[in-house]
Amino acid sequence: MAFDAEQFRDPLNQASIYAQQWIAGISERGINPRKSFDEVRDAFGDILPDQGTDPVEVINRLGTLGEAGLMGMGSGKFFGWVIGGTMPAPLAADWLISAWDQNSGAPTLTPTVTALESIAGDWILDILGLPKESAVGFPTGAQMANFGGLAAARGEVLARVGWDVNLLGLTGAPRIRVLVNEERHVTIDTSLRYLGLGAPEEVESDSQGRIRIDALRDALEKFSAPTILALQAGNIHSGSFEYFREAIELAHEHGAWVHVDGAFGLWALASSKLRPLLDGVELADSWATDAHKTLNVPYDCGVSIVRNPTALRRAFGVEASYLPSEREEELWPSEKVAELSRRGRGVTVWAALLALGRSGVSELVDDMVLNAQALASDLATVPGCRVLNDVVFTQVSFAFESDARTESVEKCLLEDESVWISGSKWKGVKVLRISVSNWSTDEKDRFETIEAVRKAVVKSQI
Ligand SMILES: *Cc1c(COP(=O)(O)O)cnc(C)c1O
Repeated sequence: MAFDAEQFRDPLNQASIYAQQWIAGISERGINPRKSFDEVRDAFGDILPDQGTDPVEVINRLGTLGEAGLMGMGSGKFFGWVIGGTMPAPLAADWLISAWDQNSGAPTLTPTVTALESIAGDWILDILGLPKESAVGFPTGAQMANFGGLAAARGEVLARVGWDVNLLGLTGAPRIRVLVNEERHVTIDTSLRYLGLGAPEEVESDSQGRIRIDALRDALEKFSAPTILALQAGNIHSGSFEYFREAIELAHEHGAWVHVDGAFGLWALASSKLRPLLDGVELADSWATDAHKTLNVPYDCGVSIVRNPTALRRAFGVEASYLPSEREEELWPSEKVAELSRRGRGVTVWAALLALGRSGVSELVDDMVLNAQALASDLATVPGCRVLNDVVFTQVSFAFESDARTESVEKCLLEDESVWISGSKWKGVKVLRISVSNWSTDEKDRFETIEAVRKAVVKSQI
C-alpha cells in the first residue's frame, strides 16, 4: 500500500467534528449512557467483515453509534468515583502525540517527547515541592505508579539486608513486611500481588481514615524485618491526609521505605493554602499520583515519583544487545515505568502545566476544594442528610437516616441523569460520595446538584 498523506485528512477532520460535538453537548446531555453494553455491541455488530471499510466510514460509524453508550464523565456535575475531565490544551496535545506516534522509551529515539517529559517531571517536582533529585515517570495511572514505587521499595529494602532480588528472586528471601493504612486504595493490594509480596498488614486509622500513629508505632515495634509503609494523600471517602511527618519519621527510624499513594490528593501540594495539611510528605521515598484525575488531562496518565533513581533503575532498567548501552546519569523514560514502548503521555502534563501556569494549578485545586466545601454545607441543609467527613479536600461522604434511606435516595438520584454521584460504604455505613475532580465544576453545577439531591429525597419518600 502506497503512502498518501491525503488519506489522513478526511478521517482526522471527521474525528475532530465528532469530538467537538461531544464536548459541546456534554453539559446538556444526560450523564448516564443511553445504551447498555449489549445494546452497543448489537448496534456495532460483531461480524468482522471480509472486505475492508473506508477509514471515513469507520470514523462515522464510531462517532454516530458510539455516542449513545458514553457516560458524561466530562460534565461539571459528574462526581462519581474519582474521575477528572480534560482541559483543551492537554487534549489537543494528546492528539498531536498520537499523530506523531513516537516510541517514547528513550531520548535517542525521540528527543522532543523525552525532553518535554523531562521538563514536565521537573515542573511537577517544583510545583509539589518534592525532592529535586527524584525520578519522575509517566505510567498509565496511579495503579502502575503505586506498582513502580513499591517495586523500587522491594528491591531496596532487600538490598539493605544483602539480598539481590533481581538475581535471586523472592524464593527464600527474607520476608518483607508491608504496613498499610486499613483504608488504603485497593491498587496498593494489587501492586503487592504483582510484586509477589502477598497481603499487607493493616494498621488502624482514625475517624477520618488517617493512620493512627500509636497503632503504627506498635506495628513497627512488634518485630524488625525489611519494611515498607504505604500511606495515602487523599482518602477516597474523606479526602484526608495522613499525619505525614510523624508517620514518616517513625517509619524511617525503623529503616522502612515509605510510599505515598496520592492519586488525586498529592496535588494539594500545589496550593499554598492546602500544603500545611500534607506537612512532611516530602520526606517519603516514593509517591504515586495521577494526571488524569485532579490535573484533568485525558486518560491515561499517571505519575510515578521515586527519590532514589538508582532504586528505580534497579526495578525497571533493561540491558539488551539491540539497545544503546551507554548509561547516562538521568534515567531513560523506559527505566522509570514498567512499560518499554509507550506513547508520550507525559507531554499532556507539560501542556496542562504550561496552559495553567503555576497560579493556575493552584487555583484549579483550590476551586475544587471550595466547590466540595460549598456542596457539603448545602447538603447539610437537605432534610435528613448528614455529611460524615471533615471536608478538607475534594471528597464529600454523606448519608441519610438509615442505609435503606441512603440507598433509595441513590437510586432516585441516578434516575435523574443530570448529576452523577456514586454510592459506597465507609466505616460500615452506606454513603453517597461526591468527588469534585472536574476543572469546570461551577456554581451553577453546584446549584443543580443540590436541587437534584433535594428532588431525589422527596421522590424516594413517595
Ligand atoms: C484512582 C486511585 C488509584 C488508582 O488510579 P488509576 O489511575 O485508576 O490507576 C489509586 N489510589 C487512589 C487513592 C485513587 O483514588
